[in-house]
Amino acid sequence: MSHDTSAFPPVHEYALAHRCTKCGAEPGQPCDAPRKQADIDQRQQVREMTGREPVETDPLHLLHVQRVDAGSRHYDRDVQAAPWPEDREPGRRYDTLGDLRRMPGDD
Ligand SMILES: [Zn+2]
Repeated sequence: MSHDTSAFPPVHEYALAHRCTKCGAEPGQPCDAPRKQADIDQRQQVREMTGREPVETDPLHLLHVQRVDAGSRHYDRDVQAAPWPEDREPGRRYDTLGDLRRMPGDD
């Protein structure tokens, strides 16, 4: 990615800030995705048995696709609403996740 990501949290934080329409997980709560978790556990076990280091799992893999979609649409909206990278104040965050957290359930 070539754009400045420091002004925005990662997409998985956006996804987490939304209620999941698939499993009903509340904002901030992980998805209820036992099969996804089991799949990751199994892969880690295989790595362990074959003497390889466990891999760092991408937090997006444990979230339902619908939630990730909602998160990335929100991310895109924030990026479009923010000033151009050269006009941004260094260190300032331009995301609207704080607003969402203050209004739980408002999706
Ligand atoms: Zn979910």
